[in-house]
Amino acid sequence: MGELRKDYILERYVLISDTRKDRPHDFNKQQKVQIMQTNQTNKSNKICSFCPGNEHLTTKEIMHIGKDGKWIIRVIPNKFPALELKGKSVITTDNKYYTYSDNYGQHEIIIETDKHGEQIFDYNREHLIKLLHLYKARIMILNNIENIKYVQVIKNHGKDAGASIEHSHSQVLAYNIIPTLIQQKEQACKDKSDRFDEKCAYCEIIEREKDSYRRCFENNSFVAFTPYASRFAYEITIFSKQHKLSLIDFNDAEIEELADIMQKILAKLKELGADFNFYFQNGVKDMHFHVEFTPRINIFAGFEFATDTVINTIYPEDAAKWYRGE
Ligand SMILES: [Zn+2]
Ligand SMILES: [Zn+2]
Repeated sequence: MGELRKDYILERYVLISDTRKDRPHDFNKQQKVQIMQTNQTNKSNKICSFCPGNEHLTTKEIMHIGKDGKWIIRVIPNKFPALELKGKSVITTDNKYYTYSDNYGQHEIIIETDKHGEQIFDYNREHLIKLLHLYKARIMILNNIENIKYVQVIKNHGKDAGASIEHSHSQVLAYNIIPTLIQQKEQACKDKSDRFDEKCAYCEIIEREKDSYRRCFENNSFVAFTPYASRFAYEITIFSKQHKLSLIDFNDAEIEELADIMQKILAKLKELGADFNFYFQNGVKDMHFHVEFTPRINIFAGFEFATDTVINTIYPEDAAKWYRGE
């Protein structure tokens, strides 16, 4: 068991989960090899529980997408979950400053491929579309669990981005609060819109940015640009052109277009060679859907932690030029 705790005064939460300290690390050379059988493309030469044939080493499968009688994408509960569907989901405050609940929620792993050496930028269009449909399905399913307030889909690519297992995977975390960041974005969006008497601030931002120096890629349904105040070198965000809130609001044709624009970004991130995260920012009440990609080149250090002001060494306008291949 663990706990969700809020800062004494700030709207800032932490999940404390001491089971996670026991999780394995493919990238940690000291880890002992317990099982001898290994996959040929497995560079670390260790047994990979995410590879086909080793299903018995994982937690019990939740669902999968199959092809020719075999799974090609597989969903399992995280063996070392930060969140669990038990205990108390109601957030309580004791003695004024101690706000907490149990770490109520669900923490899932999506094994994105049956091929060990393949990474997310290597998938063909059809496979990436299937993965996006699966993300959408998990959000819809987990949204329906009692007291789940938000479902977050994330991808950590590489050790510097927080991945501990080599075999390409994403994670889904569903829990009992709307993340503060999402609440802040929704409120800021609403405040700006009210002030300028517009429907959605992001809608107007997209209109401006898609013709700016920061524009990178565009298709019928989506546009990608490097944000004006990018915090990360080569940070890039995809926005839907239509005012939609969440991945679950897109139809099949739109999911295909999202895959297309993601493939363009992922190909460039492969070229960049840096580890990266991407994560879906789904609105709850009225925030405009977007997906943020954050290459992990610059390390947040004392100044960033002290002030929440990040030093980014690459101008977003230069990053956009690089994405456009200029
Ligand atoms: Zn594997
Ligand atoms: Zn909008």
